[in-house]
Formats: sequence, C-alpha cells, structure tokens
Amino acid sequence: MELLRTPADMRAWSDALKMAGARIGLVPTMGYLHEGHISLVRVAAARGCGAIAASIFVNPTQFTPGEDYEKYPRDEARDLAKLEGAGVSAVYLPAASDMYPDGYQTYVEVGGVSQGLCGAARPGHFRGVATVVAKLFLAARPHVAVFGEKDYQQLAVIRAMARDLDFGIEIVGAPTVREEDGLAMSSRNAYLKGEDRTAARCLSRGLSRAKALFDGGERDAATLVAAARREIEAEKRAVLDYAEGRVSETLLPLKGRVDAITILVAAKVGPARLIDNVTLTAEPGRR
Ligand code: AMP
Repeated sequence: MELLRTPADMRAWSDALKMAGARIGLVPTMGYLHEGHISLVRVAAARGCGAIAASIFVNPTQFTPGEDYEKYPRDEARDLAKLEGAGVSAVYLPAASDMYPDGYQTYVEVGGVSQGLCGAARPGHFRGVATVVAKLFLAARPHVAVFGEKDYQQLAVIRAMARDLDFGIEIVGAPTVREEDGLAMSSRNAYLKGEDRTAARCLSRGLSRAKALFDGGERDAATLVAAARREIEAEKRAVLDYAEGRVSETLLPLKGRVDAITILVAAKVGPARLIDNVTLTAEPGRR
C-alpha cells in the first residue's frame, strides 16, 4: 500500500496505474475509520476497481467556526492498518498546507441541493465539501468514487457537482452501515459517552418508526416525518435540528401522498451533531 502525501504524488500514482490499464476507485474520508468507511472500499472493488485509493484529510474548509475541526478524532496508524486489511492500493494523506497554501482563493459552490437541511445549519459547509472533493477528484482522476448514503445531502451535492462540472467520474452511493442497535456509524460517535450513547439511538429509532408506518400503508408525507420527529423530540438529551421529508433524487420539498420519500434528520446529542436518513419506496404495484 503506497502512501501519497502531495497532490503531485497522487496524480503520478493515478497516471501510472491508468497507463497500466487499471480502473481506479477513490474513497474520500476524514479518517478515524470504521466499518462504514471500509464498506465503501468493498463497494469500489465490487464496481470493478482494480486499484483503490482512499484519502484521509480532515478538511478545514468544511467546518464552520466553532465546530470540532481541532478536536475531530484522528488515528493515522490505526486507519492505515484498516485500509491495508481492506486491500486498498494507496492512501492519499495531503497536508492542509498543500491543499490550501497561502494565497488559496478558489471554491466550488453548488446551488439548490446545498441549501436547507445541513446547509442551513452549517453555512459554508457544502462549499468546503465540494471544493475539497473537486480537488481530490482532480488529483486522483478516478473512474469511480464512492460515498456513503449516511451523508445523503453530501452525496447529492457531489453528484450535482460531478455532473455540472463534467468530471466524467461515476459517483456511487453506498448504504449506511449501522451499529447493532441501529445507530449509524460515524467517527463523531466517539464523542458519545454513557447516556448520550443510548440517547443517540433516537434518530434511527425515529426513522424505523416512519418506515414501519410506511410499510403498514401510511402514505402521507407529513405523518411519516412527524413519526420520526416525535421520537427525537421525546429524547430529552437530544436537541432536534431538523426532520424533513424530501424527494429522494432532488432533495426538493415534498407534501401530501407519496410513494417514495427520503426522510432526513439531524440532532445534537451531548457534544455530537448526528445525522441519519431513510429512503422509503413502495414496492412496484403496491399502493
Ligand atoms: P467521513 O470520514 O465522515 O467524512 O466519511 C467519509 C465517507 O464515508 C463519506 O462518503 C461518508 O458518507 C461515508 N460514511 C460515513 N459513515 C458511514 C456509514 N455509517 N455507512 C456508510 N458510509 C459512511
């Protein structure tokens, strides 16, 4: 497994493998890896990528002032061991000073899908995400890039950017990997101690309630969203940020009777801001 430290190193690795005919997959992460991240590597392999690069970069431009950039968990040695075990060919670990040197002044701004939801709570967040992912794409020039559906709005932002800027990279979404009790895996779960960890289950529990209603035939968007919201509001250690139902592909608002809906939730539990989502679709022919 090769360690690549600069954009030039990343580019050279990619160029050499492309010359050799490899199909390149990229898995961008901020490190402190868990099974959710590793599942993305497996998805890249299943998509026929013979050479997979993972990146580890805690991207300062996607943290808003007062957020956890400084104390975001980091463990490079453990991450590298996990990636090696997963069969990754290269790890890209750029320094912040190489990604954003003095005089840096170029940003990528994605419109509609960046607004609302986490975009409202975290101004500038998706501009930072789109910018860093564009830089990773340009350095690694992969055929395929894999992102988790856990960060549903982020995936939509990246799909829009890749399409609008003609990156020619296949963007693949991968299902959310969960802890046994339903909590979506996240590096930020490391912040959850004691009762906060138990309380954090309210997000996935709320989404499960909505899914159970939907599976039982409920089709009113507001009723489904309210079921998820109620679970989170009932948890006294959680502070709800949003619970919303959106069109799965566009993230446009949704009302009335639905045969498909993505419900997205965000809440603060103790020191951790947590997000989760579920996509509900009626089986064809079943109303
Ligand atoms: P992060 O390191 O949190 O920036 O996440 C890096 C990538 O892993 C993103 O594409 C995330 O959506 C994805 N990811 C994070 N948590 C999970 C999870 N529980 N299941 C699947 N993918 C995830």
